[in-house]
Amino acid sequence: MKGKDKRLPSELEACWREKDMAGGQVCDALVMIMRTSGCCWAKSGGCNMCGYRNASLPQTTVEDLNRQIDQALFKYKGEPFVKIYTSGSFFDRREIPEVVRERIFDEFKGCKRILAESRPEFLTADLLSTLPKTMSVALGLESANEEVLRTCINKGFTAQESKAAGERIKDAGLRVRTYLLLKPPHLTEKAAMADTIASAHFADCFSDEISVNPLNIQHGTVVERLWKRGEFRSPWIWSLIEVMKQLSGTVHARLMSSPSGGGSQRGVHNCGKCDREALDAVERFSFSQDPRDLAVTCECKSTWECYMKAEQVLGTAADLGRTFNNDLMIPKK
Ligand code: SF4
Ligand SMILES: [Zn+2]
Repeated sequence: MKGKDKRLPSELEACWREKDMAGGQVCDALVMIMRTSGCCWAKSGGCNMCGYRNASLPQTTVEDLNRQIDQALFKYKGEPFVKIYTSGSFFDRREIPEVVRERIFDEFKGCKRILAESRPEFLTADLLSTLPKTMSVALGLESANEEVLRTCINKGFTAQESKAAGERIKDAGLRVRTYLLLKPPHLTEKAAMADTIASAHFADCFSDEISVNPLNIQHGTVVERLWKRGEFRSPWIWSLIEVMKQLSGTVHARLMSSPSGGGSQRGVHNCGKCDREALDAVERFSFSQDPRDLAVTCECKSTWECYMKAEQVLGTAADLGRTFNNDLMIPKK
């Protein structure tokens, strides 16, 4: 990867193809991550887990953004679903000026579905009424608990503000994908699961899809500092599976998860031996919604159970696997 100083504002940060769903069908999706001037909230501190400011360049111009669109069009092979991420808010005009946004909608007007994400403050009823009906808006609610949002995440908006934006999006006839953060810092594994489950129930009334995003430790963040000091462990894949199992059949929205950094120490992980199988199970479930797809077995499940008991007894959300040898927490047969 090029160093930050070598990156050009006229180049896309990344672009790839993946599977997703449009119109109830599994389909190919083109994902483009645009380099913009950056998230307005990140400039004043930002969220504790977010390292996206590394993907932004303040000097990005309209011409640069147009070049980035040209690159995406070069790669575009008629996928029915296009996802446009900016590492910030697509609807913040300082990141994506109106003229660029209009061009994107025009270039991809043949798509079944377009998805872009935004903080709630940019999603006014006036703006939403002008968007194509193929639009899905992704909202980074993260948690429905105002205290968690404020103190653990530093989100800079409230759950109620996110909900109001979700309702405005629905009123405009568009779709909502809500992101929930599994395991914000300072929450134990058990508290984190409970938080995500409660948040999904909160979000269900204004969401077509709920994407559970297990925390992935990004460079240069508050969470990375905690992790380096042994005060944070990324969630277990067992916790993600348990959240999906408990939510399955209790919400209307499609449940999904496509974890970044899954199976690595910085991302959601188990013992290492079962990680691939467990992540594949979550992926299958994200498409099928069938909880039987979540069936995974590995001896580390009992370590995860002991880990949660130990967190409770010790009253800490620190990384106990680094304080104690994980093997000590495996019950004797
Ligand atoms: S998580 Fe989103 S809102 Fe928070 S700082 Fe990052 S880009 Fe901005
Ligand atoms: Zn395992």
